[in-house]
This record gives sequence, C-alpha cells and structure tokens, in this order.
Amino acid sequence: MLVIDTPSPNFGDRRDGSAVTMLVFHYTGMRSADDSLARLCDPVAEVSAHYLITELGDIHQLVSEHKRAWHAGLGQWRGERDVNSRSIGIELQNPGHEFGYKTFPGVQIDSLIELSRDILERHDIQASGIVGHSDIAPDRKQDPGELFPWRELAQAGIGVFPEAGIDTQETLDALLTQIGYDPGAENRISAFQRRFRPGQIDGQSDTICCSLAAAYLAALSQ
Ligand SMILES: [Zn+2]
Repeated sequence: MLVIDTPSPNFGDRRDGSAVTMLVFHYTGMRSADDSLARLCDPVAEVSAHYLITELGDIHQLVSEHKRAWHAGLGQWRGERDVNSRSIGIELQNPGHEFGYKTFPGVQIDSLIELSRDILERHDIQASGIVGHSDIAPDRKQDPGELFPWRELAQAGIGVFPEAGIDTQETLDALLTQIGYDPGAENRISAFQRRFRPGQIDGQSDTICCSLAAAYLAALSQ
C-alpha cells in the first residue's frame, strides 16, 4: 500500500494515552483534493484527519496514528465525547452535499478498504466503533452521506451491515435455524409466525418476518 506523506501541523497528543477504539469516515465537502489538503494542513483552520483519500485513490497521511487528529469536533459515541482521542479519522475527497455530492469512485473505495483493513489489523477496533461523522454528530453533519458504500465495506470485513432487513427466503431460513427450528421442518415459518406474528400465518418470508427473527435472536443474546 502506497501512502504519501503530507504532514499537517494540526494535531495533539491523545489524552491519557487513550487506545484507538474507533474508525471515523468523512467526506471533505470541498471542490478538489488540492483544496482539501491545503485546508487540512493550514494551521489557521485547525482541522485535520489522519488520512485523506483522493478520487484517484491516492492515500495521503496527514497525522501519525499515534497522535490526536482534529476531525470529529463536538459529538459523542457510546458515551465517549472525546472522539478524537479515541479514533482514527479518514477523509474521502468528495464535494459533498454543498458542492455536488457524487458517487465515490471505485478506485477510491478500493484504497479505503485496503487502508481500513490495515488499520483494523493494528488496532482493537470493534464493528460498533466503525462510524460515519454523521453518526457521532447527527445534528451538525451529513458526511460521509447516503452514497457511502457501507454494505460493500461490511462485505470486505469492515463493520457489519444488517442484512436481516432484506427479505429473502435464505435469510429467514438461516435465522430460524439459529433460533432453533428444525431445518428440515416444512412448516417452520408458519410456526414462527403463529408465535411471533399471529396476524399473518401464511408460511411466506417477508421483511417483517426477517426483522422479527433477527430482533428475537438479538434479544436472546442480551
Ligand atoms: Zn466530517
């Protein structure tokens, strides 16, 4: 993996030697990668991130992972308010909602996946700590936005995506087996419905059945 060193002065020490437990994705919201790099390296702007990935897939490292980059701002996640001390921040070049939000190019996402996998190998970051900027600051931020390919990242081993929300016979079959139903029983969907969804006992898989089965499994494991 080729990483271009583009140092920014905008960083400090992680407070109390905090371990990295989060990965935060952003878009830059600026017109070009050059504009974004200039701002993220400008001492007056007082913003930065650990990495910026251009639309061509070039990875720039701005701040050492040992240091606290200034990307998260005010927000909180799972009770943590000093997200910067706990996280690695990655900026993706994209004009964002203000200047013409567009699909992230494949080469940019390929680089993001390679970089994220590398980071996950070196730090103890759980799936619950992999977030977008708008997750930690929903009243201020929209990035990385609805075009960010969360499902594709999850398929590449970065975070998880709730596939149970999808209505497929295969999904429900897998869930019912996990719950305990005999995989060979012909009427097991009807049995599940009779217990959890008595308003519709038709033996057919749909989104609601899948969601109920996933929620029941989650409740069992609490
Ligand atoms: Zn952001």
